[in-house]
Amino acid sequence: MINTLPFNLQPQQLMADPLTPLRLESCTFWSPQDVKWMQEALKLAKQGAELGEVPVGAILVHNQQVIGQGFNEPIGRHDATAHAEIVALRDACARLKNYRLPLQTTLYVTLEPCTMCIGALIHARVDRLVYAASEPRAGMVGSQMDLSIQPFYNHIIGVYHGLCREHSSRILKAFFRERRQAAKKKNNISN
Ligand SMILES: [Zn+2]
Repeated sequence: MINTLPFNLQPQQLMADPLTPLRLESCTFWSPQDVKWMQEALKLAKQGAELGEVPVGAILVHNQQVIGQGFNEPIGRHDATAHAEIVALRDACARLKNYRLPLQTTLYVTLEPCTMCIGALIHARVDRLVYAASEPRAGMVGSQMDLSIQPFYNHIIGVYHGLCREHSSRILKAFFRERRQAAKKKNNISN
């Protein structure tokens, strides 16, 4: 899929493998606004990590204004559906007092959406999805399956990925590493 915003080439993509010639079709271009909003989503992910939630952040933008945001928070909200994307969608609908979102919204999320979340984004008619890191185990926008291109939906969402991928992966890896270390410590104390 061709991205329509040809601005900043991500340096890590240029540097990824200096021996492989750069193929234009494998490059993704991002606008400075895309970078800014994904960085905001990463801040939300870190907020979640501080509360002991798996760090995923999401931000919904319309006309370069935030209309909804959230982070993965199933533990704190006692809600299995409180993934970052769903929290951001609900936040936007509550702020707008409308179940219909305005046209041409973009959802920035730090991790590839799951089955529930890509379904919700399609039903909410989000125009564009930008996600950072892939989720090889259960990602449904390319990793395990691509629900965004199924012909039976009556809305097509544009999907772009890889923006701030490394940063998002680092946050997730650090979170799980700390959690493993804390569990180990606890086991040692109880033994
Ligand atoms: Zn999800």
